[in-house]
Amino acid sequence: MLHTVSNFDRIGEENAFAVLARANLLADGGMDVINLGIGQPDFKTPEHIVEAAIKALRDGHHGYTPANGILPLREAVARRTLTTTGVKVSPENVMIVPGGKVTMFLAILMFGEPGKEILYPDPGFPIYRSMIEYTGAKPIPVPMREENDFAFSGEETLSLINENTSLIILNSPANPTGGVTPRAEIETLVAGLEKWPDVAIMSDEIYEVMTYDGAEHVSMLEFEQLRDRLIILNGWSKTWAMTGWRMGWSIWPDALYDKARKLAVNAWSCVNAPAQYAGIAAIDGPQDAVAEMMEAFDFRRKLVVEKMNAIDGVSCRTPKGAFYAFPNIKDTGWKAKELASQLLEKKGVATIGGPDFGVLGEGYIRLSYANSAENIEKAIERIAEFLAK
Ligand code: PLP
Repeated sequence: MLHTVSNFDRIGEENAFAVLARANLLADGGMDVINLGIGQPDFKTPEHIVEAAIKALRDGHHGYTPANGILPLREAVARRTLTTTGVKVSPENVMIVPGGKVTMFLAILMFGEPGKEILYPDPGFPIYRSMIEYTGAKPIPVPMREENDFAFSGEETLSLINENTSLIILNSPANPTGGVTPRAEIETLVAGLEKWPDVAIMSDEIYEVMTYDGAEHVSMLEFEQLRDRLIILNGWSKTWAMTGWRMGWSIWPDALYDKARKLAVNAWSCVNAPAQYAGIAAIDGPQDAVAEMMEAFDFRRKLVVEKMNAIDGVSCRTPKGAFYAFPNIKDTGWKAKELASQLLEKKGVATIGGPDFGVLGEGYIRLSYANSAENIEKAIERIAEFLAK
C-alpha cells in the first residue's frame, strides 16, 4: 500500500475537464453533442501568432530559456500592462508561466499552510479552493451573490479577514458567473486593507479584456498602496484563444519574485520556447482578431440571456464579463448538478452544474457561450424541451 502525504487527500480538480471528456465520449458514440461546458474560446489562435511560433522554431529557439521567461516577452508584458492599466511595471517583476493557472498554484503554495486562512470567491474557479485545501490552509469563501450581479462586496470581504488571513484571491471579470466587480466595491476593499498590511492579494485578471455594456475592468495594479503585496494573474489563453499553448504571465512584488522563480526552476525549468515568441507576437501584433472575437461573444451573450429567460423556471442575469452566463434554475425544481448531467446524457448539451464552483453555486448552471450562435440556439432549445417535460 502506498502512502502519499495527506495533502493529496484534499486536492480537488476542475469538473469542466470531466464533462469535456464525457461529452467527447458521447460524441464519439454518435451523439450530436453541443458543448457549452468548457471555458475556452472556440476561435483559432490568430495566424500571425502561430507563424511567430513556427518561425521561432525555424530560427533555432528550441532550447531552455531563463526560468522566468525571455526578456523581450517580459518587456512586451510590461508595455502591455502600461497600455491597459496605465501602470508602469518592470520586466523584472514579470514572470512567464505555463498557463494562467500556474500563478494561483504558486501563490497559494506560498501563502497556504495549516493555521492560515485564504479568502476566495464562491462561486469561483474551482482550483482556488482545491489548492487552498491542498496546502492545509482554511478556505474562506467570499460570496458572489446574484443580487449583487455576482460581484464581491468590499465590506463583506473585509469582514472575513482576521489575523490568520494570509491571502485574498480576487477575480473580476469572473468565472463562472461573468460578474464584474464595480470600482466602488474595490475601492472599499482597498481602503479597508490598510488595516491589514500583512495580507497578500492575488488578483486573477485573466478575463481583463472581456467586458460588455461599458462595464469597467479595474486592475488591482491601479492601487499603488497594494503593490508590495499584490500578485497579478494574467495570460494568453482567453484573450488570444491560446488555451492549449499553456502561456500565462504573473506580476510579483520584489519580495516574492525570487520565490516564484525558484519554484519554476524546481518544477518546469522554463516555458516552451517557441510559445514565448508567439506570446510576443500576440501582444505586439494586430488586435483585430481579439476585437472580432469580442463582438461575437457579445452577440452570443445577448442571445443566451434572451433565450434562457424565455424558459419557465429559469432566470438569467446579463453577465458583464468573460464568456459565461450563470442562469438561476432554482424554480425548475432540479438540483444543478443533476440537471447538468441529464442535459448532457439525454439532450447532448454540455453545461456545468453550479456546485462545481462552490457551495453557493447550487441552483445555477454555467453556460459557456464559446460556441456558435447557431449551436447556442439549438442547445437552449433542447434545454427548454427537456425542462418542459
Ligand atoms: N483563472 C480563471 C478565472 C479561469 O477561468 C481560468 C481558466 O478557465 C484560468 C485562470 C486558467 O487559465 P489557463 O488555461 O491559462 O491556465
